[in-house]
Amino acid sequence: MNKKTIRDVPVAGKRVFVRVDFNVPLEGGEVRDDTRIVAALPTIRYLLDQKARVILASHLGRPKGKVAPEFSLRPVAKRLGELLGMDVAFAADCVGPEAEAAVAALKPGEVLMLENLRFHAEEEANDPEFSRKLAALADLYVNDAFGTAHRAHASTAGMAAYLPAVAGFLMEKEIDYLGRALEDPKRPFVAILGGAKISDKIGVIKNLLGKVDRLLIGGGMANTFLKAQGYDVAASLVEEDSVAVAKELLAQGEGKILLPTDVVVADAFAADAQAKVVPVGQVPAGWRILDIGPQTVKAFSDALRGAKTVVWNGPMGVFEFPRFAEGTFAIAHVLAKLPKAITIIGGGDSAAAVEQAGVAGKMSHVSTGGGASLEFLEGRTLPGVAVLADR
Ligand code: ADP
Ligand code: MG
Repeated sequence: MNKKTIRDVPVAGKRVFVRVDFNVPLEGGEVRDDTRIVAALPTIRYLLDQKARVILASHLGRPKGKVAPEFSLRPVAKRLGELLGMDVAFAADCVGPEAEAAVAALKPGEVLMLENLRFHAEEEANDPEFSRKLAALADLYVNDAFGTAHRAHASTAGMAAYLPAVAGFLMEKEIDYLGRALEDPKRPFVAILGGAKISDKIGVIKNLLGKVDRLLIGGGMANTFLKAQGYDVAASLVEEDSVAVAKELLAQGEGKILLPTDVVVADAFAADAQAKVVPVGQVPAGWRILDIGPQTVKAFSDALRGAKTVVWNGPMGVFEFPRFAEGTFAIAHVLAKLPKAITIIGGGDSAAAVEQAGVAGKMSHVSTGGGASLEFLEGRTLPGVAVLADR
């Protein structure tokens, strides 16, 4: 990575402001899933070991610029304290006298969590004065919130105008994996795309087509491609507006793109719908495609054999319904068994799918950023990365 990290700058004794992504699900005032907190621990532990004064800041939910107790980061600070095995101080506001006093009380090797940044509308507005106030709390700015790096907000981009800015370890890991796959992949490089909508991912398909050796397309988005090829997909999810662009992409990706040849169809969009496997040309009237079929799983598995880099975004079917999860889980297991391949999972639902398949730990990298990883795969520069100091 060509960006500086916390390894490249002195941090001992310094007040270090770390923008983390602690936007975690809460339930009954407790953290229900602490994956995102755990993901930031390497950065926090390193800074504490180096005797930095660590100031953590994050958003949580959508409080729309107002104080809303249900979006308080207090439960998150508590969970972090349990994970670190130490006290985590808390400031009930992220700027102003309370934050300033809490920072002033912080000793080297101690950690403070600030209250939700989005209790102030200036955060999402990327207000320069708000950025300056946040920056005034610290000597160094660290961005470790990859999941929010595609947004130019005060704490994700604006603050870098007022402080030296470097990446944390999670940010570094995300950029290393995703960046290397796009810039210098070990080949064969195979991408798998799926999910509900093609319109969300046209930019990703375009960018990846120029880089991959094979592109496997499943999930709801495959329907629009099948329609573009002239198949009748009956009641399947299709984006009529995207049929023309799907045709163009198919022409552009001639010989590279692999589509389903058989599919699992259902007589309703429901967990207990009737299901059967049919060739793509034989979807019964009134039925819809909810998964890829076994022949397609076989063809995709063959295309993945020998792959050295795999990027996967978007489930192969409606994996939320067990009856239509087989295609997605089968592909997850194929990736888990690929010898010596770099396997990268991007996208929130895709990450959940490999988790449910029980093979998340077998992947080289499961991205913590849904929207951010998609924008990265589109080849866009993320504002939260662009502002960090170059090496
Ligand atoms: P990610 O979050 O990994 O980027 P998406 O949000 O693009 O993935 O897509 C995930 C959603 O796509 C899931 O909710 C899944 O149910 C849906 N989906 C997958 N295949 C189909 C299909 N054939 N028809 C309708 N929805 C589908
Ligand atoms: Mg999603």
